[in-house]
Amino acid sequence: TPARSKPEYRLDRSHAEFVRAGKVIPGGVNSPARAFGAVGGEPPFLDRAEGAYLYDIDGHQYIDYIGSWGPMILGHCRPEVNAAVAEALAKSPSFGAPTVREAEIAEEVAAAVPSIEMVRFVSSGTEAAMSAVRLARGVTGRDKIIKMIGHYHGHVDALLVSAGSAVATLGHPNSPGVTPGAAADTILVPFNDASAVASAFERYPGQVAAVLLEPVAGNMGCVPPRPGYLERLRELTTKHGALLFFDEVMTGFRLSYGGAQEYFGVTPDVTCLGKIIGGGLPAAAYGASKEIMSRISPVGPIFQAGTLSGNPLAMAAGLTTLRLLKRENPYPALDRLAERLEDGLRRAATDARVPHCVQRVGSMITIFFAEGPIHDFDDAKRSDTALFGRFFWELLARGVYFPCSQFEAAFLSSAHTEADIDHTVQAAREALLAAR
Ligand code: PLP
Repeated sequence: TPARSKPEYRLDRSHAEFVRAGKVIPGGVNSPARAFGAVGGEPPFLDRAEGAYLYDIDGHQYIDYIGSWGPMILGHCRPEVNAAVAEALAKSPSFGAPTVREAEIAEEVAAAVPSIEMVRFVSSGTEAAMSAVRLARGVTGRDKIIKMIGHYHGHVDALLVSAGSAVATLGHPNSPGVTPGAAADTILVPFNDASAVASAFERYPGQVAAVLLEPVAGNMGCVPPRPGYLERLRELTTKHGALLFFDEVMTGFRLSYGGAQEYFGVTPDVTCLGKIIGGGLPAAAYGASKEIMSRISPVGPIFQAGTLSGNPLAMAAGLTTLRLLKRENPYPALDRLAERLEDGLRRAATDARVPHCVQRVGSMITIFFAEGPIHDFDDAKRSDTALFGRFFWELLARGVYFPCSQFEAAFLSSAHTEADIDHTVQAAREALLAAR
């Protein structure tokens, strides 16, 4: 196995399943990052999870830092969430007709997220971002979108340009099949550079529908906004009659109950949400003021629809998750736990004399193997990804499941304990010594 110092860590059953899957599924996976292309080797196949722990089919247990790439903020298999889904399932997996729970969760989201008065549910973050871009264009009557290099908004054609994360990991910032036309109205600027946004507005006067960004980047590793940056984007978009569009698929209900916009006190015009809002089931959403959202069909002319939108199981999982988050307010404890991990990783990397930079906002965290701070995608790309790959495998072999790419943030859940963090830090210490 790729963990040099732990040859006893083997994934024989997973290997057999990976080979089998590879014959009928491209790369054996239904989403590219899962194939471990960025770190080499083959992924463990998972069997089940509980709380902060994952279990693979080869009998290994791992402390989970991907949380299904964000949704599992309460940990896996919270009894209340599973019970709500089971109850909904007994009534029918899907109706394609209105249900009471859709309004309940919409009310919850509108009360929680400052920019949202009305919200439309869809089934994936990709769909939410795609629909919200259409909304921004439809509302403003303008075509161009300003996008940050290295930010990811799902596999929407127009947004799959310099899109970070799995795209960056695989080394194709643009995908074949995205036509020049589809990407022609996407203006790319570096993250954390407000003057680049100001210049883009000067260059395309009256043509920019929206400035779109992850308020805290998670798809190039965790990269926070510089102080004042979000505020400056708020001013610029207002001045130029464009919409400020936060992609809070990752940050929504994670940095705080009201997302990054509540955390930083900057309110965008349009917000898209995903991951946590579905509690581990496929749900996502986009929302804005009543005025903006009233332009969507059937009230307004901007079309968007979905067979499984507002699916009863996803709404049950999502609503139960949101209510638990509101009631339990795990955010201060998550922050303390993540700070413990941040400090531990920093000390371990310093002791191992590895150039590094640990960046964190709330329960999103990344250790970059480069001197920091990392402000944009160019900075992130300076990281030693080969070292990251070795570190990743050494950690995995020690029962710690970090994201399988330097360009993804790790997530904590309220099911993690201080003992889990301390175990992780000890494993990281050993892993760094073995990997460096
Ligand atoms: N936006 C952001 C910020 C994301 O992190 C992701 C997924 O990782 C998406 C959009 C796309 O969401 P989905 O994978 O549900 O389509």
